[in-house]
Amino acid sequence: MERTILVIEDEQNINDILAFSLKKEGYKTISALDGITGLEKALTENPDLILLDVMLPGLDGWEVCKKIREQSQVPIIMLTAREDEIDKILGLELGADDYITKPYSMRELAARVKANLRRSAAPPPIPENKNDEGQDDIVSGDLVINAERYEVTKNGEIIDITLREFELLRFLATQPTKIFSREKLLENVWGYEYYGDVRTVDVTVRRLREKIEDDPSMPKYIITKRGVGYYFNK
Ligand code: CA
Repeated sequence: MERTILVIEDEQNINDILAFSLKKEGYKTISALDGITGLEKALTENPDLILLDVMLPGLDGWEVCKKIREQSQVPIIMLTAREDEIDKILGLELGADDYITKPYSMRELAARVKANLRRSAAPPPIPENKNDEGQDDIVSGDLVINAERYEVTKNGEIIDITLREFELLRFLATQPTKIFSREKLLENVWGYEYYGDVRTVDVTVRRLREKIEDDPSMPKYIITKRGVGYYFNK
């Protein structure tokens, strides 16, 4: 199946290079040269993934990302040039799935695109909880994780959760009490070994805690093992 990637980047030559390289990788591409057009195409043309530059005329990448997230969970990779932008991507509740810093190699970009598409298209099965009828709910305290519907409920209320947060929670919860390093989580949940930044894991854990814990500063589900990593406390 041909996947479509929307490239939102105002520098025409960079946009062209990205589109050209992605086409060579077998993707269909759509281009937008400013934020407003990008947002419009994101919401009307159903891309499978979006590459989104931070500095854009009109509506900047931050605003475009937030507005897309109000309506869609499509994977978004932010294109950024500066360290302070990375901190902002990691720290804010923008809902971006990933970021890549300029200058990037096309090989790195292609790996990120592939990893993010794979995550959104084909969630890995959960061996421990799989039976002939499908995947069982994971129940822990007031939390229910439904792997088939990608849904998490707490006290019966559906929690608004991104795909990545869901996958991280599910991964940890299927192997309760087992401690995973941040590198291991990056590899298993984000799907790549070499390109990720372990801070991404910390930020996603923090966001998850804000959503599922009664008191995010005293978590009872996702526990930090200092100097080692994280585990799920069933
Ligand atoms: Ca730009």
